[in-house]
Amino acid sequence: MQMQEFITLIVLVAIFYFMYAYNKSQKAKRAEAERIRKTIICPNVNCGYTGAAKKTARGSTAVGLILCLFFLLPGIIYFVMRGGYRYSCPRCGYQIRADN
Ligand SMILES: [Zn+2]
Repeated sequence: MQMQEFITLIVLVAIFYFMYAYNKSQKAKRAEAERIRKTIICPNVNCGYTGAAKKTARGSTAVGLILCLFFLLPGIIYFVMRGGYRYSCPRCGYQIRADN
C-alpha cells in the first residue's frame, strides 16, 4: 500500500514537472517568435540596419489621460482608437510598419 502511494506521488510529480517544462519551452518559443517578428532590415538604403525594431505606442498616453480626466468617454475612445504600436528603425527613425 505504501509502495503504491509512493509510486502515485512520483507519477504526479513527474506529470507536474513535464507540464512545467512544456510550459517553459512554449514560452521560450513564443519569445523567440516575438523577437523574429520585431527584427527588421531597414529599407533605408543609407542605413541598412538589421536588428530589433523600436516599438513605440501610437498616439500619446498623456493626451489620453488628460481626456480621461476631464471627459471620461472621449478619453476611452481615444485609447481604443490609438491602440497598437509603431515599429521604426532605431538608427534612422524610418517607420517600418504599424500594427494593431
Ligand atoms: Zn534605418
